[in-house]
Amino acid sequence: MTLTDTPTVLRNVVAGEPVDGGGWFDKRSPVTGRITAIVAEADQTTVDAAVSAARTALHGSWGRTDERERAAVLRRIADELDRRFDDLVAAELADTGKPLDQARTLDVPRAAANFRAFADLVTSTPTPSFTTATAGGGRALNYAVRKPAGVVAIIVPWNLPLLLLTWKLAPALACGNTVVVKPSEETPSSATLLGEILAAAGLPDGVFNLVHGFGPGSAGERLTRHPGVEAVTFTGASATGRSIAAAAADGVKTLSFELGGKNAGLVFADTDLDAAVEGAVRSSFTNGGQVCLCTERLYVERSIFDEFTAKLARRAGEQVFGRPTEPGTTAMPLISEQHRGKVLGHFELARAEGATVLAGGDVPSFGDERDGGWYVRPTVLTGLTADARTNREEIFGPVCHVAPFDSEDEAFALANDSDYGLAATVWTRDVGRAHRAGAALDVGLMWVNTWFLRDLRTPFGGMKASGVGREGGTHSLDFYSEYTNVCVEVS
Ligand code: NAD
Repeated sequence: MTLTDTPTVLRNVVAGEPVDGGGWFDKRSPVTGRITAIVAEADQTTVDAAVSAARTALHGSWGRTDERERAAVLRRIADELDRRFDDLVAAELADTGKPLDQARTLDVPRAAANFRAFADLVTSTPTPSFTTATAGGGRALNYAVRKPAGVVAIIVPWNLPLLLLTWKLAPALACGNTVVVKPSEETPSSATLLGEILAAAGLPDGVFNLVHGFGPGSAGERLTRHPGVEAVTFTGASATGRSIAAAAADGVKTLSFELGGKNAGLVFADTDLDAAVEGAVRSSFTNGGQVCLCTERLYVERSIFDEFTAKLARRAGEQVFGRPTEPGTTAMPLISEQHRGKVLGHFELARAEGATVLAGGDVPSFGDERDGGWYVRPTVLTGLTADARTNREEIFGPVCHVAPFDSEDEAFALANDSDYGLAATVWTRDVGRAHRAGAALDVGLMWVNTWFLRDLRTPFGGMKASGVGREGGTHSLDFYSEYTNVCVEVS
């Protein structure tokens, strides 16, 4: 696969048509820093037109289609995603610089899986029904009718662009909603390509609309404030979630927030140590550490602490900085110059707080075009207390801090000592301990002896500052639906 050097022009999509938006912005490659795309920024007129197109499609046909018809369209979309697999991989690589292997095995296949999973779910999940006694000794039948929530705004980040967008788009469409999508300004390509794919699969015009741009004062804020939007589903930073909640308050919109994390990994002495080291490498450095579920705080039982940290630091240094298309590449650049500045600022802060840097902590040098990109080395820190800012603030880069613990109770308390509550990973061979952790840890997702394994039917979301509500399985059907309970006296 080769990546082209000619910038692509990417436009908004309104009622099936590509449209300019009043302004343009540049998208740059994280690998080289060069411009890869020129993107139309949606102004107020474009956002208004997108919401209006979504409303017309909602009332026109899509909102009234049978669930089985919608499921058939979703399955055709999945087939079309499979057909355009290589184009989608190229789009993800161009926008993020992620390794080809990862895009081929995680990001792009998950998109089709999202559509198939929600096609199955919407056609196999009944709504509740109850028989109720009446005052006169007869009976009444209650049943709930599932209906679309309305026009849904989907606002997503840049770290797993296609995967996270389709994770919301598939259930939204399955439930008969129409959507206006705003992808991250850093990753406009796969969402634009998705517009073509949806049209080719037969999704009616206006059901999917796309607006490009930034957050505050741009397409994102225009969408969240829009009176024509019934629900906002958002994945991104916790601070952004707070701004969106404030903007959406006027319109009394339904909200679902999947936000940031500062996830703990607990490594007990009874674990398979080498498997735990490899698990920690994956959970801290996958996607350049730019996954909300990545582990940034590792706590290791004291008797194995020295051996574990030495092995982890060595493995961090062995990550492979090939070009995205080169086989064996495991390390990738950060998404932007600004984000790299933030991550390097955290490395400086850690040093100022007294951290010992066991691996990384700096920028690699290549002697080629990648020196114009935004790489940092996978970084392992130690020596800080739980209240250091390094251990409290989400960094969102390839970095973890490792600290020892002496008892199970202490490990659980350290994991819970966070403003966030998204995910945790526990490495142990003690089955009882694994179940005790499930009850004790205040997180939305917990893995034992694995990481990032997802069944799309299970609840997904975070506690505390990590989110509001759950999506996944029937939780998604509930968020993207309204229900009318019908009560009929039958005797
Ligand atoms: P971000 O919050 O800066 O941006 C996310 C999206 O929101 C982008 O499309 C952006 O343009 C838009 N946006 C920003 N400000 C807005 C505003 N005021 N109004 C409307 N839209 C606005 O996040 P990011 O930097 O793109 O992504 C990284 C963050 O996302 C991290 O905190 C990470 O933990 C989080 N994340 C969470 C999950 C999860 O499932 N919990 C998954 C992936 C990423």
